Amino acid sequence: MSKGKTVVISVGGNLKETPCAIKSAILLLARISSFITVSSLYLTSPWGGKTKMPFFNAVVVTKCSFSPITLLTICKEIEFIKGRRVGEVWGDRILDLDILLYSNLRITTEILTLPHPSLGRRNYLIAPLRELLPFYEDIVPHYLIDWLIGKDKDYIKRFVWKCV
Ligand code: AMP
Repeated sequence: MSKGKTVVISVGGNLKETPCAIKSAILLLARISSFITVSSLYLTSPWGGKTKMPFFNAVVVTKCSFSPITLLTICKEIEFIKGRRVGEVWGDRILDLDILLYSNLRITTEILTLPHPSLGRRNYLIAPLRELLPFYEDIVPHYLIDWLIGKDKDYIKRFVWKCV
């Protein structure tokens, strides 16, 4: 049995360097995890109207021993290392890491909300999440189950990773 809390993290971005940055982010997350599994990579429609560039999205499930805030700091650090700078909300970005679930924790603070507020509302999260459901079934909130089972959208294109 791997040690640590079960954590679900989404990785995405919409620049040409993004797939490479996502792979690096996953490798970095693997170094701080006792277990990691990765969804396929998805090409998805942009959200929010600020950019026309499609996004790449994937989801990872890990087990780690960091507190939620420390994990958020690590995610921000990985984004920074890969070239992300603070920018427009919903704008173009090389890499975005969001903590979707941290065990069964529910918190709302100024810097961290768990489960992530977009969870259960965005198909770019739902599609990869659905693939990995068996790995985090014990912590999945009930409202998400309908989405995970029922929804599908044509505009989401799924790729299988060639290498990680
Ligand atoms: P982003 O635009 O995804 O880089 O996130 C902007 C801010 O959202 C971050 O700096 C966090 O402080 C905040 N945030 C709140 N909840 C979360 C979460 N569950 N995962 C990641 N960021 C979060």
